[in-house]
Amino acid sequence: MIVAVDGPTASGKGTIAKAIAAHFGLPHLDSGLLYRAVARQVQLDGGDPDNPADAEKAAGFPEELLQDPILRSEAVGQLASHVSVHPRVRALLRRRQQDFAHQPGGAVIDGRDIGTVIAPDADVKIFVVASGQARAQRRYLEMRERGEDVTQEQIEDDLRRRDERDSGRAESPLLAADDAVTLDTSKLGREQAIAEAIRIIEAKR
Ligand code: C5P
Repeated sequence: MIVAVDGPTASGKGTIAKAIAAHFGLPHLDSGLLYRAVARQVQLDGGDPDNPADAEKAAGFPEELLQDPILRSEAVGQLASHVSVHPRVRALLRRRQQDFAHQPGGAVIDGRDIGTVIAPDADVKIFVVASGQARAQRRYLEMRERGEDVTQEQIEDDLRRRDERDSGRAESPLLAADDAVTLDTSKLGREQAIAEAIRIIEAKR
């Protein structure tokens, strides 16, 4: 069974994807981490994330980079939304994601274009959304917990800019597949959101 979980930043898709993978005993890939690794590699190379050639070169990042906790920072997330607009970068990361999705037994992948581009054949597609306020509040608490010094306004601003780039880009924009089930987590706690995702999957298979 292939499960595609897409949605905007801080919608809860990562938490949901990880939990359903554990529940159904499936491997999980956080595709955003690949774009984050490209962004971090551009930074390490002293390159420009908006320059397609710099971003493309960084797509050959070393595997160990995926373990670096700095990839989870909001700054790297912002840069990731710059490198991810380049079609060549997306193409270079595509095969890896498609192979992961189509491994025997299936997989859970979360991202922006999993249900539309990476695995249009996924058995279940969940599009996770939440209000801007709920997302900013969650991201704020997460970042404070990690010791990052930010205000809620800064986060709302960052989310807005990232949404605009992810939804507005020409190549594989953030989009719900026609056959995706939308899951709004604005008013749901973590466990409720996970239970709802499990219910959606059970109903589909
Ligand atoms: O999901 P996450 O916030 O880690 O993703 C970081 C950035 O990577 C996103 O803002 C988006 O620009 C890009 N991304 C993408 N396609 C995916 C996953 C992430 O373009 N499938």
